[in-house]
Amino acid sequence: MLTIGLTGGIGSGKSVVAELLRAQGASIIDADRLGHEAYAPNSEAWQQVVAAFGEDILTTEGEIDRRKLGSIVFADPAQLERLNGIMHPLMARMVEDRKAGLAADGVEVAVVEAAVLFEAGWDKLVDEVWSTHTPADVVVERLRQRNGMTEEEARKRINSQMPAEERNGRSDVVVENAADLADLESEVAALWQARVKGKVNQGNG
Ligand code: ATP
Repeated sequence: MLTIGLTGGIGSGKSVVAELLRAQGASIIDADRLGHEAYAPNSEAWQQVVAAFGEDILTTEGEIDRRKLGSIVFADPAQLERLNGIMHPLMARMVEDRKAGLAADGVEVAVVEAAVLFEAGWDKLVDEVWSTHTPADVVVERLRQRNGMTEEEARKRINSQMPAEERNGRSDVVVENAADLADLESEVAALWQARVKGKVNQGNG
């Protein structure tokens, strides 16, 4: 099985590219979703996070309140590091389990979609890394439309992430996403033909 890590800055098009790869035949492992699953009450992650941050971060139903936890860790880099220290290794194991399950099912191409692929060290879990890249001004416009963010909020979010130059430099493929969706679709189709089809037995199309 070929495993592609898919990362990119906020609003750069990761989810759209993941969908396009799914349409080509890939199976998607969504790190965001794994994070949600990891927080299931009384799971290992739940226990460690509650031990570290206290029961104040729980809802009355005993679930981790991601907003409360978010307000703690995004206000204090040391707390974010602490949370990441708990979650990233646990999620790496979940990614490995998910990969093993897909491989056992005969899946030929898996995509690990994760905004923090490099930060979490998950690039070690994949064969190659693709990054989506969109110029900051275009991202600001998309975030204004999609999330109703102000320009200031959008730039703050962009600047809180790994610089695009570093992410791109560490990637095997940079998917440029400055133009329209039709353009992105043909770019991904061409990449699939050029980089994926030859590496697996079957490929779509
Ligand atoms: P996040 O990290 O915030 O989840 P993302 O990297 O997954 O973002 P997407 O959700 O795929 O990014 O894209 C961000 C927004 O921009 C979406 O509303 C998407 O539909 C839109 N978008 C992405 N690419 C294009 C494009 N080429 N043209 C127009 N809109 C686009």
